[in-house]
Amino acid sequence: MRYQTNPRGKKRVTLIEGDGIGPEVVGAARAVLEAAQAPIAWEVCAAGAKVFKAGLASGVPPETAASIRETRVVLKGPLETPVGYGEKSANVTLRKLFETYANVRPIREFPGVPTPFRGRGIDLIVVRENVEDLYAGIEHMQTPGVAQCLKIMTRKGCEKIVRLAFEVAVAEGRRSIHCATKANIMKLTEGLMKRTFEEVAKEYPQIHAQHIIVDNCAHMLVKHPEQFEVIVTSNMNGDILSDLTSGLVGGLGFAPGANLGNEVAIFEAVHGSAPKYAGTNTINPTAVILSAVMLLRHIDEPAIADQVERAVLRTLEEGSYTRDVRPEGALATTQFTERIIRNLKVLKDGRPVRDRRTLKFPELSRSAVAQKASTRRTAGIDLFVETDAAPEALGARLESLVSNSPFRLKMISNRGTKVFPVSDAMPDCVDHWRCRFLLRDPRRSASDEEIRGLVQTVEQQFPWMHLEKLQEFDGSPAWTKAQGEE
Ligand code: NAP
Repeated sequence: MRYQTNPRGKKRVTLIEGDGIGPEVVGAARAVLEAAQAPIAWEVCAAGAKVFKAGLASGVPPETAASIRETRVVLKGPLETPVGYGEKSANVTLRKLFETYANVRPIREFPGVPTPFRGRGIDLIVVRENVEDLYAGIEHMQTPGVAQCLKIMTRKGCEKIVRLAFEVAVAEGRRSIHCATKANIMKLTEGLMKRTFEEVAKEYPQIHAQHIIVDNCAHMLVKHPEQFEVIVTSNMNGDILSDLTSGLVGGLGFAPGANLGNEVAIFEAVHGSAPKYAGTNTINPTAVILSAVMLLRHIDEPAIADQVERAVLRTLEEGSYTRDVRPEGALATTQFTERIIRNLKVLKDGRPVRDRRTLKFPELSRSAVAQKASTRRTAGIDLFVETDAAPEALGARLESLVSNSPFRLKMISNRGTKVFPVSDAMPDCVDHWRCRFLLRDPRRSASDEEIRGLVQTVEQQFPWMHLEKLQEFDGSPAWTKAQGEE
């Protein structure tokens, strides 16, 4: 079940007002939904700044998590991560806690809202992967001056987001989909999303599927935004592209969103808590009201969703707007909301805003294994060591240390560029060296005992902080070469 109903037949929704401008925008959305007589029973819960300040490091109290586990549907205001209280963002905690793996962010041109793109018919959806990538939050200082963040992308995660994006395209009656990646540089992580997209696309022959490099996608979004219908992309790319797309149609005040998982859906605007506007009654509630429209469709209330959406469009078309559109003649948040409520009554019936089908969630396997290899071989290791030695000295020393071991030193790189054997490269080196050792015998696999022996040999002279096995799956190397490596 996508949602739960209470004994009086109302659909239960957890409501998190959020921080900063959150109570104002969420209050506006609640007022509009109540005026539209949406059959919703709200369960008001806390999360965010107040919870952090009360000493709960996750920012999400157990009562809030329990309510979401029951209702499965949330309307949420923005949550700030107060600096100095809590380690993690409460937003990220909620997304991860309920595995809302997709962030769906539609934008469209609004009548009456002046932008440089007016008249271009922009109407697109960014489908952003929501739990993996650099936002897995796995960071380590490798040396006092070298930081590392692991970019985790999985076949399972890519397949889920890509399939959901195709289903969004089908449900919304879209004819084309772009997959935006940086696969040209990150061939294994971003490349996994590209390859998965190309495979899954074969199952949707009615949708024109095209890969685009993400930087060109940003360029094209500004130059010819009308060519895009659905863009599926990884977490960080999607975070940035979706702020860009909101700028095309009038700004963050107009960009709604949904965090979707197979169990739970959390609806919220793209924008944050804009603390400088908190309590000023000047901010634009459109983004949260349109997020609530997405929520209504999710809980099978498409007629009320269309009624609210038409009322928002009509209100903007009439020339009503908040300060972010233009300061002169701007309405207060509450006045703008009242106009929408007035238009609800005028537009009680009408044609659907767009012909839509219910979104079909992809079937998910609960198994941890998404991909198997029929053969595997450990060809060697990358061992990361800390030293202020010069590359020539480090290389010569390591070669001598391993001269009697089953491994040979293949190369050393610094910040991804090969520095030993010495080449023409002139990198500005730091005290963090990747030393690549390969088995001298390429026909067999290195044992863990041999690897431990190699590490013990190296650590006699150079402290290490990180080790990666170099594995071959089905005969292909599962690692990339350094810049300049043969
Ligand atoms: P922000 O709150 O989105 O605000 C950035 C700017 O966008 C505002 O200064 C304002 O621009 C404009 N804006 C945002 N919402 C608006 C609205 N409803 N109506 C009109 N204009 C609006 O971003 P931030 O200042 O970077 O982040 C503030 C806090 O929010 C941070 O603690 C951050 O972690 C958090 N955050 C939370 C979420 C979330 O809960 N999902 C998302 C993003 C950020 P002008 O200054 O030009 O008027």
